[in-house]
Amino acid sequence: MTNPESSRPDDHLPDHPLPADAVVPDSPAGLFGADGELAPVDVPEPSAIGPAPTGGQRILGIETSCDETAAAVVIDAHHVLSSVVSSQVDLHARFGGVVPEIASRAHVELLTPVIAQALIEAGLDDGHVDAVAATYGPGLIGALLVGVSAAKALALVWDVPFVAVNHLEAHLYAAFLEEPEIELPLIVLLVSGGHTMIVLMEGHGRYRLLGSTIDDAAGEAFDKVARYLGLGYPGGPAIDQVAMDGDPTAIAFPRAIMADGFDFSFSGLKTSVVNHVRKNPEVATADVAASFQEAVVDALITKARRAAQQYGAKGLCLAGGVAANSQLRERALDVCMADGLHPFLPSRSMCTDNAAMVAAAGWWRLNRDGPSPLDTGAVPGLKLPVL
Ligand code: ADP
Ligand code: MG
Repeated sequence: MTNPESSRPDDHLPDHPLPADAVVPDSPAGLFGADGELAPVDVPEPSAIGPAPTGGQRILGIETSCDETAAAVVIDAHHVLSSVVSSQVDLHARFGGVVPEIASRAHVELLTPVIAQALIEAGLDDGHVDAVAATYGPGLIGALLVGVSAAKALALVWDVPFVAVNHLEAHLYAAFLEEPEIELPLIVLLVSGGHTMIVLMEGHGRYRLLGSTIDDAAGEAFDKVARYLGLGYPGGPAIDQVAMDGDPTAIAFPRAIMADGFDFSFSGLKTSVVNHVRKNPEVATADVAASFQEAVVDALITKARRAAQQYGAKGLCLAGGVAANSQLRERALDVCMADGLHPFLPSRSMCTDNAAMVAAAGWWRLNRDGPSPLDTGAVPGLKLPVL
């Protein structure tokens, strides 16, 4: 579970959301009916998802599971009014990875101004939101607690529901922010710093886990290989960049594509990279980066494609930080074109950790399951709720 945003080309989100005069608005009002009850909402059938109705529910999303402090306001899971991400990458870079204690302290400092900025950018500086959603797992316990505590406090003060959101489910919902008319079933390739999964999404909240990594996550492999190659932290964007000048066919790294099933393994590939560089110290780093990236993308796309064919999926969706990878996006588009699948590729800033996806997943959870109890705690090892 790593990641930073600042080097991404299409990242338009501010890095330093600290307006000097920023304060958290103190209006206690929510957008409930006169009787204080949340207006009932018809959750459409998966096949009937459409554009959000006007005047919908405004959800404040909060994300603090790892090293991004983020807040966003989204209407009805589709319309992003604001999305503020403050990356802690500079704080962790010299350690080569996220330091949990530093992350927690930074969240404490940054969260209030980040929330204030999200509300102000959304034009809601009077604090009128319908619910507050926060990631409650999986992630770093100290980091999660900051967001969960803040969300509960705001929900209490504003007298609106609190919604506890699963970070993995939030990644799935990033695609819905930009493409509300998603047709199901869908194969989702969820690839981040901490997870690598192929998920069959049959309906909202209805997921089947078809496969996952048996060792390293894809993003973790990018980060470790980048570190070994001296490309710095975060590794994914660095390899993506360097690989553009390399030959992806220069080195035939192993694919670990087992004949059956949808599980992945990336630790052998990582070892192969290390062995190859040791034996060939003069090798061009760009060729190693490009060939490594090709091997990861090949394994991911081969299995996602097979899953889509086997389960009759209508589309293929990428989610998680590694979904920002240029080569993965290109290959996913090629496969979708060849197989008649609808491609769902969230913009890069929505692939990596952000709070708009938390608000979107929160909207669906609120309207399916209702508010979460205020005694909900942070759950560092939370799993995707699968069928
Ligand atoms: P988390 O795992 O904490 O949920 P993210 O979903 O934000 O975090 O994913 C972060 C991971 O995504 C990191 O491992 C990072 O190296 C990787 N990543 C980010 N951008 C790219 C990219 N362009 N190519 C490959 N990997 C990337
Ligand atoms: Mg993530």
